[in-house]
Amino acid sequence: QRTEYIAFIDQIVDRFEINIRSGLSIERDLPNKRYYVWMDSDKITQVIDNIISNAMKYSPEGGQIKVKVEVQKHHIVTKVTDEGVGIPDEKIDKIFDRFYRVDKARTRQLGGTGLGLAIAKEIIEAHDGTIRAESRENQGTTISFRLPLMRKKRG
Ligand code: ATP
Ligand code: MG
Repeated sequence: QRTEYIAFIDQIVDRFEINIRSGLSIERDLPNKRYYVWMDSDKITQVIDNIISNAMKYSPEGGQIKVKVEVQKHHIVTKVTDEGVGIPDEKIDKIFDRFYRVDKARTRQLGGTGLGLAIAKEIIEAHDGTIRAESRENQGTTISFRLPLMRKKRG
């Protein structure tokens, strides 16, 4: 469906804020204009839910999570940054693999299957987009994905 992307993101973040763990906060940095994306909004919701849940799961007490949307010429980029445990360089490419979890001991108690980001990657690629991760151990992680913008209607 044709989806107004900024309102869509706002609504997802609203939903997370309702039940946020005490001490955590979510900051938004969203453009003040409307942008349209042709997408399966249930599937993209699933992607963002997993990315924000991960950010919350791996954040320390008092951590801040930032959700930023940036517009490029033909794409819209969504970035979720946390101040959590981070991911070691040599493991960062693996986090999009099925069932991969960075630290078995650490993540076992936090729950999950290691499928979230693998599914996210499939969904984003099915939308002709890309997804990537940047991280510094013990400083935080940014997961960002890029989706094609719909061309503005003329007249
Ligand atoms: P699931 O999403 O299936 O419940 P999961 O969260 O463990 O389980 P993924 O979302 O695929 O699985 O993430 C894969 C692994 O990448 C995680 O287990 C974790 O080790 C690492 N990871 C993902 N996001 C972050 C993050 N924001 N900070 C630190 N590590 C992360
Ligand atoms: Mg996950």
